[in-house]
Amino acid sequence: MGVLSQYAEHLALTERTPRITLGEGATPLVAAPRIGSALGIELYLKFEGQNPTGSFKDRGMVMAVAKALEDGSSAIVCASTGNTSASAAAYAAAAGLRAVVVVPAGHVALGKLAQAVMYGAEIVAVEGNFDAALAIVRELAKDGEYTLVNSVNPWRLEGQKTAAFEVADALGDAPDILAIPVGNAGNISAYAKGFREYRACGRLARLPQLLGFQAAGAAPFVQGGPVASPETVATAIRIGRPASWDLARAAVAEFGGGFHAVGDDAILAAQQRIARDAGVFAEPASAAPVAGLLQLHAAGSLRRGAVVVAVLTGNGLKDPDAAMRAAGALRTVPAQLAAVREAIAG
Ligand SMILES: *Cc1c(COP(=O)(O)O)cnc(C)c1O
Repeated sequence: MGVLSQYAEHLALTERTPRITLGEGATPLVAAPRIGSALGIELYLKFEGQNPTGSFKDRGMVMAVAKALEDGSSAIVCASTGNTSASAAAYAAAAGLRAVVVVPAGHVALGKLAQAVMYGAEIVAVEGNFDAALAIVRELAKDGEYTLVNSVNPWRLEGQKTAAFEVADALGDAPDILAIPVGNAGNISAYAKGFREYRACGRLARLPQLLGFQAAGAAPFVQGGPVASPETVATAIRIGRPASWDLARAAVAEFGGGFHAVGDDAILAAQQRIARDAGVFAEPASAAPVAGLLQLHAAGSLRRGAVVVAVLTGNGLKDPDAAMRAAGALRTVPAQLAAVREAIAG
């Protein structure tokens, strides 16, 4: 059905907004009792990797591209750590628009780049990080030839807020805690917008605490200011100068909660744990909230029995390199029953 049709009454659509869709939204809220019981909480994973291009970016992109079409635009542009470009390229392809994407050279996961290539985007890799790429596309969009579809485009957050609606619809109210990775900080701001609006129309009795998790090498919210050279294995949150800084800080102040940093080793360990103990393969950035919950539990600061939703923002298949680095070489044996038996014995 798609989020534009599903949540039409909550979105600023007009009769001229085309109801485009690639089938985004309606992602599963997966109960994770094995990890939850270890943490003493009731844990659910909102698996956004099930969206059409494998990340939550599709919720905002469908809205941004619909509005670009409504406004008569013929080309969209974005800076991206990978998922925004995959999403922009797909929706532009479906709508018949040009898509130009600017990415940090050498720091985009292979699967994401392959998506943008396949959907036919015009890709430019710059010798700089995401923040530099964003500054360039903001300039490029100024003369009106290109519609900017980064999350500074307010339609992006408008579409992304539908994930909060889905969480609330599935649980019957807000969870106690929403745990979410934070990069450019659009998504945490969009969830806040969604919960706020659902509460205003009487669908929620309460608001959740917002816990935002950043990679330790790219943690401007935790450090209290921009990070010049962000570094992390979780490339989707390798951002030092978040565009939605004010919105995200205001949301956390209003809802309660906070920002926390988690190390790359903890992120990769959590990624594996989510796969092995919950059957969900999410990309490294998506594991940050679970790594963070494990860390808070170890420090004794996670309330027992809390209902917690961790947002798993993207699909693990996008970054096969990160997964295979953990695996090491595969065992290869002769094609004989005895050899296989021997290989799997103790
Ligand atoms: C974009 C993205 C994030 C970060 O979201 P922001 O809105 O930039 O904070 C986290 N995880 C994945 C997989 C992403 O694609």
